[in-house]
Parts: sequence; structure tokens; C-alpha cells
Amino acid sequence: MTDTTLAYWQGLAEKLTLRTRHFIGGDYLPSADGRTFQTINPANGAVLAEVARGGQAEIDRAVSVARKVFRSGVWSKMEPRARMAVLEKFAALIEAHGEEFAVLDSLDMGKPVMDMMNIDVPFSATTIKFFGESIDKFHGQVTATATTALHYILNQPLGVVGIITPWNYPLMMAAWKLGPALATGNSVVLKPAEQSPLSACLLAELFIEAGGPPGVLNVVQGLGEEAGKALALHMDVDKIAFTGSTEVGKLLMIYAGQSNMKRVTTECGGKTPQIILGDWDDLDTAATYAVNGIFGNQGEVCNAGSRILVARELHDAFVEKFIATAKQNFILGDPLDPATTMGPLVTTDQQARVLGYIAKGRAEGAVLALGGGTPAGLSHGAYVEPTLFTGVNNAMTIAREEIFGPVGTIIPIDGLEDGLEIANDSPYGLAASVWTRDLAKAHTFGREMEAGVCWVNCFDHGDMTSLWGGFKQTGNGRDKCFEALSQYTQTKSVWINLG
Ligand code: NAD
Repeated sequence: MTDTTLAYWQGLAEKLTLRTRHFIGGDYLPSADGRTFQTINPANGAVLAEVARGGQAEIDRAVSVARKVFRSGVWSKMEPRARMAVLEKFAALIEAHGEEFAVLDSLDMGKPVMDMMNIDVPFSATTIKFFGESIDKFHGQVTATATTALHYILNQPLGVVGIITPWNYPLMMAAWKLGPALATGNSVVLKPAEQSPLSACLLAELFIEAGGPPGVLNVVQGLGEEAGKALALHMDVDKIAFTGSTEVGKLLMIYAGQSNMKRVTTECGGKTPQIILGDWDDLDTAATYAVNGIFGNQGEVCNAGSRILVARELHDAFVEKFIATAKQNFILGDPLDPATTMGPLVTTDQQARVLGYIAKGRAEGAVLALGGGTPAGLSHGAYVEPTLFTGVNNAMTIAREEIFGPVGTIIPIDGLEDGLEIANDSPYGLAASVWTRDLAKAHTFGREMEAGVCWVNCFDHGDMTSLWGGFKQTGNGRDKCFEALSQYTQTKSVWINLG
């Protein structure tokens, strides 16, 4: 059972091993030029570690090792059963090291340690297990219609996959990409976000402990414009799998065009609408989901339900319930304290950015109904209060741009048609929810909503079989589901003349 005392988690934090170098071919290496960058604990501003700052030299080295190992076939041609066994053990090791991962990511980016234990760690392990188990279920097909020929389609690994991850779910975003990339036999160079670099090398070490060959999973630490760009421009990388901002996602597609036309899959930003229709009669439940949907993980979530579209007739009652629920559910504090349900934002830069959006909301005429500032007594960290604006219209900056912080907006609507029009009026299309008792309206929403993930009478539900990815400028990738495997393979047609 998980220990729920702060002293226990602080004790773990004190004993923690910080892996601060690159992990290439199974060895830890510093940067060739000795350069480092700092990773900061956003709960108190303390420097956690000096981390190796990779660039072209480290990326070249990691890609060359990954290519050599791929060609050797030691992983790419490993018997499927053996590869499955490695991934199963890898998943078990992630779970066994759950507390270590929890403390690492919590210190690095401010996420409550209990969120790590309840969400990120089990979900990451499940992801690796799911893709491990899928290995012998993902196969090509035989299609020849001519009697004098046999034709079959093979699914083959791409080769070297570059994975670039964001800071909001450091372990889990890596697991979502590693699962299908490794299951299909690719070699990987992982570049974690510079704000949260500490858990990636533990992951790579555990892969080897599980029986994964050295050089299949490599980690290069560094900044986006240096290590990330070098990886994305590399002529010997076959694919970039990316989760992060739309701005960088677009750059990666340009880099692919400037280099070797490598494949690029992107999971980028969102501005998720949560629609509450007038026939919905359980405001307590809708308010609870809406509050958790926008304030969970400090609002630093790609599918944060930041636009709450409420039937005009329910508006006042809903806002009242929303505010009461938010005050009850979200306790700001030290992310290592198991009682904390909202930690600091990832950096003081992100804090300033979010506070800037709050100022803009006020300047554009929205009404501040909750929060709006930094919480008393926590000025040593990058905290922002859970914040709600009412009186918002969809043209305001706070309704259009991804804030990536705990800021919700309430927009009144007149029926489903109006709700859908506003919901779809966004450059993003990751996720959306509707609350209604009307079956026809639920299906209309499911069909007409321009989003990759649609929830009816819930929010954030799903399992490994449901896909994750978006429409429009959220990007083109699909994580988590069986379909993800095809994004890490290429098809080959083999035609055999039997005549
Ligand atoms: P970001 O785009 O700034 O950085 C993401 C990664 O890209 C980091 O590893 C960074 O170092 C790297 N990078 C930055 N510039 C680069 C460049 N020029 N070339 C190559 N790599 C570069 O995003 P972030 O701030 O870390 O994460 C927040 C964003 O991630 C939000 O927009 C959020 O919506 C998105 N996100 C999306 C999903 C999803 O599934 N759709 C999930 C989580 C986060």
C-alpha cells in the first residue's frame, strides 16, 4: 500500500539517484563538449541537477548506435515471443520502480506525487504491457486474387525512430511512444523535454534490465533547438514521433522536408470543449468532471477542458457548483505531500505565461469568478490558483489559445447546434465532451464534433483500445491504441509468381 505521509516521500527524494547524462548503447556519457543545463524544482526554485546538454555530436552517436543495432537484427528480428517477454518484464519493472518515477517527475515538473502513483505510473506500465501483448496479433495480410500468384503484405519496422516528448507527463508520454515503437522492432533515440529530463534514463536502464539489447533504447538529453532539432533533421532517422506544442510540431514537419522526408507523427495542442446541455439534470456530476477536467495536472494537459459551454438556463447554478467543487477538490501545496492535489506549474516562465493570459482575460472583459492570482503562502514556487472566467465569448484570447494552466472559461450556449458551432470554432481538435440525456443529441455530437476523442456523459475515460490523437492543428498521430502500431511500421508488398 502507498505510504501517505509527507516524511516518507521526502525521505525517498533525499535518497534519489539522479541520472543526468546521456544513455547511448547502454552506457552513460557526458556531452562531448562538457556542456550542461539546469533542471529546477518548480515547487521551491532549487536546482535539482546539472544535466548533460546534447547536440549534434550526441545525436549523431546515438543514431549511429541505434542504426547498427537495428541492422544487427538483435531486436528487430528477435522472435516475437522473446520480444513480448522483454516488454512484459519492462512493464513490470516500471511498476516496481513506481515510487522512484513518482518522485522524479514530481520533483522535476511539480505534479502531485499521488497523481503519478494513481495515473502516470500504472498507465505507463499498462501501455508497455498492451503493446508487448499486441506483437503476435499485429500482422500483414494475403491478398492475391490471381490463381497463378501469391501476394502478401508485410509490416516491417521503420528503423530508427526519434521520440521527442513534452514535460507535462514525462514518463507517460515516453511510454506511449516507446510501446508501439519497440513492439514493432524499431530502435529509438528519445529526447525528453529539458524541463523534466530526470526519469527518461531510468526508463532506458529498466529496458536493459528487462532483457532489451543495449543500443535499442537510447536517450539524448538537451534543449529542443539543439538536440531536438538535430534529431529531427538527421538524415538517418526514419521517423519522429512527437508530443508537444503545435508550433514545434509544424517545425518538425519542415525539418522532415528539409532532410530525408522522414515520417512525422504529431500530438499537439488542444482547447477542449465540455458541453453541458439544458436537459442534463445532474449538475453535481457534470461540475465534478468539469472541474477535474480543467484543473487536473495543474491544467497542464493537452486535453484540458478549458472551454466549458453551459446551457444558458443552467449557467448560474452550474457556476456556483463548479466553484464549490473546485475549492473542495484542489488543495495546492508541496507536490511531494500526498494530500496535495495541485502542484506548481512547471517553471516560473510558465507561471508568468499563465498569469499573462489571466490579465488578458480581464482586459478583454471576461469576469473573474474564481482565483486569478498566486496562492498565499506559496510564493517560493511557480503556483497559480485554480481560476475561472465567466462572461466569456469564443473570440476572446482565453477561449482561443491554449493556456496550459489552471484557467477555465464558461461560455453560455443555446442548445446543441450553438454548442457544436462554438466547440468546432477552434484551430484544435483533440477532445470534447457532452452531457445530455438525449440519445439523438449524443450521437449528433459524436458525429459532428471535430475532435479525435469524444466523450458522452463523462470526461477523460478510456482504455488502451481507445485512441488518442486529434483533428486539425492538434496533429496527425494516434497514440495508445492498436492503430498506433501501423505508425511505426512500413508495408511491403511481396508478389510471388506461381505460374
Ligand atoms: P514544446 O513543443 O515546447 O516541447 C516539446 C518537446 O519538443 C520538448 O522535448 C522540446 O525540447 C522539443 N523541442 C522544442 N523545440 C524544438 C525544435 N525546434 N526541434 C525539435 N524539438 C524541439 O511543448 P511543451 O511545452 O514541452 O509541452 C506542452 C505542449 O504539449 C502543449 O501544447 C500540449 O498541448 C502538448 N501536449 C499534447 C499532447 C497530446 O497528446 N496531444 C499530450 C501532452 C502535451
